[in-house]
Amino acid sequence: MNYSDSLHQSSEYLRMALRHMGKLSVPVDPINYAVWYEYVSGRNQDLKKVIEDFLQNSRPITDEVNKDLYNSYVAEEDQSVIERVRTEFKRIIADMLKHLSRTGGEISRYGEALAGLSDRLAETIDPAVIRQIVESIRSETRTMESSSEGLRGRLEATSREIEVLRKDLERVRREATTDALTGVANRRAFDERLAQAMDKAGAEGTPLSLVLMDIDLFKRVNDRHGHLVGDKVIRTTAQMIKNEVKGKDLVARFGGEEFAAVLPETSHKGALALAEQIRARFEAKQWRRKDTGEYVGVITLSIGVATYRPPEEAAEFIDRADRALYRAKESGRNRVCGETAEGGKAEGA
Ligand code: GH3
Ligand code: MG
Ligand code: MG
Repeated sequence: MNYSDSLHQSSEYLRMALRHMGKLSVPVDPINYAVWYEYVSGRNQDLKKVIEDFLQNSRPITDEVNKDLYNSYVAEEDQSVIERVRTEFKRIIADMLKHLSRTGGEISRYGEALAGLSDRLAETIDPAVIRQIVESIRSETRTMESSSEGLRGRLEATSREIEVLRKDLERVRREATTDALTGVANRRAFDERLAQAMDKAGAEGTPLSLVLMDIDLFKRVNDRHGHLVGDKVIRTTAQMIKNEVKGKDLVARFGGEEFAAVLPETSHKGALALAEQIRARFEAKQWRRKDTGEYVGVITLSIGVATYRPPEEAAEFIDRADRALYRAKESGRNRVCGETAEGGKAEGA
């Protein structure tokens, strides 16, 4: 990154870096950002070579790899690169604000001038004074028009740049929190939302439930129909679960063929009822392959339900739901299990 990059150039690099990061689901933080900015600017040849090697061999660029790249190729090269990323961002934003406030000032000054002139107009009927006032209005308008023309142009260009950046950031954020196969929330989004929901439930004293669902004997689906059909089943499963929950609830892909639903303001009983509804919905469906019409059969879910006990940690909460899911599997699959009696709550379904 370089101070001599033009505003246009640097925002183009920013956009390119974001595009790469989005595609590879790299979290947007200043360190990762610096790595990808350096990469797209093409100035750091060693870094470029290593990243291209990763990309060509389809090796995953995990967060850890990113941090390593930063330490090996960016931090060494230039300790202040993060600071410069920040400066670039600040420069674009400041540029926009400057134009906004200048235009705003111009408009309000113009408004005040016009208001003053129109006051004087109301006080007089002397034609000479009126002519003078009209002349003043014309000249104020000309000043306003000529200065605002340029300002407006620059303002529009900057706003467009900011808008593109904002959209890129939004897309990157969306991609970073969405599971690519199913389109529902991914594990990262689940962790975030669960933590928020736990905070809220703890603070407000409202119930919060967690439902974990695992497709029964899914290996058989893969073995009999192939991985691609398996993928489709996973995708449809996600949508079916999503269709059963309300707006406030979050459905996430928890792992391979495992899903989670975070249910704020939902009691244990309410969560058991919803889980049972989901289970029944799956049991009732006959699956067929769309391409060949071949019968896939019935696909069932085993479901575990737990309800938050503040101030327990997320790991503990998830573990209780997981143990309930395990009991559902153990006791024959295609069923819902809730908290155990020893946990203070009755066994569900
Ligand atoms: P059960 O849960 O009832 O004990 O049996 P299962 O056959 O579902 O067992 P397990 O959870 O051990 O296996 C899950 C399988 O799901 C293994 C893995 O190959 C498959 N799987 C995981 N993720 C995906 C995916 O994204 N696509 C496909 N097609 N299969 C996946
Ligand atoms: Mg599983
Ligand atoms: Mg399974």
